[in-house]
Amino acid sequence: MNVLIIGSGGREHALAWKIAQSSKVKKIYCAPGNAGIAEYAECISIKVDDIDQLASFAETQRIDLTIVGPELPLTLGIVDEFENRGLKICGPGKSASVIEGSKIFSKDLMKKYHIPTADYATFSSSKEALDYLRKKGVPVVIKADGLAAGKGVIPVQSLDKAEEAIDAILTKKIFGSAGERIIIEDFLTGEEASFIAFTDGKTIIPVPSSQDHKPIYDNDQGPNTGGMGAYSPAPVITDTLQQKIIDQVMIPTVKGMAAEGKKYKGILYAGVMVNQGEISVLEFNARFGDPETQPILMRMKSDLMPVLEAIADERLDQVSIEWDERPAVCVVMTAKGYPGSYQKGVEIEGLDNTKAMNDVQVFHAGTAFKDDRVVTSGGRVLGVTAMGSSIEEAINQAYHAASRIHWEGAYYRKDIGKKAINRTG
Ligand code: AMP
Repeated sequence: MNVLIIGSGGREHALAWKIAQSSKVKKIYCAPGNAGIAEYAECISIKVDDIDQLASFAETQRIDLTIVGPELPLTLGIVDEFENRGLKICGPGKSASVIEGSKIFSKDLMKKYHIPTADYATFSSSKEALDYLRKKGVPVVIKADGLAAGKGVIPVQSLDKAEEAIDAILTKKIFGSAGERIIIEDFLTGEEASFIAFTDGKTIIPVPSSQDHKPIYDNDQGPNTGGMGAYSPAPVITDTLQQKIIDQVMIPTVKGMAAEGKKYKGILYAGVMVNQGEISVLEFNARFGDPETQPILMRMKSDLMPVLEAIADERLDQVSIEWDERPAVCVVMTAKGYPGSYQKGVEIEGLDNTKAMNDVQVFHAGTAFKDDRVVTSGGRVLGVTAMGSSIEEAINQAYHAASRIHWEGAYYRKDIGKKAINRTG
């Protein structure tokens, strides 16, 4: 089979690495890809939102299956366009991707189908938002409705900050049309986890739980990032909670989307807050999480291709998946300055030092080739991922590998996986 992967991050490198192991696959292309993905795939310079060109490429190269990494092409309707041209693709269509593309849609869906989530109200007028806020008080979380490159969620602890956030989104339009409407949501406390499932719109196959680390600094301090590391499984998700998430979140969501005429096929990601055995959904994503995909795919023993094909063909009931019992941990290495403006084009050294290490994979995110050398080209640069017989062993192995890689200004958190140890140890 010829496979096309859309995207250029660590998630897409992990997908390319996993798909390359499939005996069903002859050739992988990735648009646009990165320096690490180039080891497994031919990288083609088409942007992820250039749907027409991507579809034409898939037609010309006789692509048998396309898998979409990031949300943008999904919300723009890449799946609809490919299917209209008779091309097989794994992911939700435009109408179903609204579950990630509009936070208001997803909150209203949760309310309608009794899926546990924080109380909220929605506004398009800043006056009404401010009136509500003054009655409600703080802390609250203010969310732009649309896609805002991961920056559209602002937790606020004071009225001043809340007013500033409302003004910035609704009046100053810092997120453009993504901020035409906002949500003001109750502030939740607890421990977050990621829960991902494969679904063809009827059958749901859960993926092992995982946990991301959003803030830039240790002990969850500092501004949020795209994700500084992840591990799987997340011990905070006990077997009982896992069943609760399947019964109270995943099944009603897939059924609810179908009832709304928005059949959901693809990867469904729920970000959940866990507090004293109760769960509350923070958000849905219409795709694999990044970096959670890196440790998850390392633990997947089965071939991924038959699963992706079965989603596209709507016969997921015929598939079963085997997972490695061993935990896996991903430590994200970032460029100096991230998540603010950061340096690009800095040479990365020591990548070869990790090649022979057992159960270690270094997934590239923001990397590129410059004169045959690998250089940084994004904020999140590498996802150093390792599997171990215990979470401690996986953590040690990931940090050992990270310590062998260098570039000027490289940074990573030193406490990835600590929460898992606290829970298991
Ligand atoms: P979201 O994109 O909605 O998941 O929000 C991004 C991050 O903001 C989450 O991973 C949480 O850390 C935080 N967050 C979102 N909603 C809430 C909430 N209601 N209470 C506390 N934190 C939240």
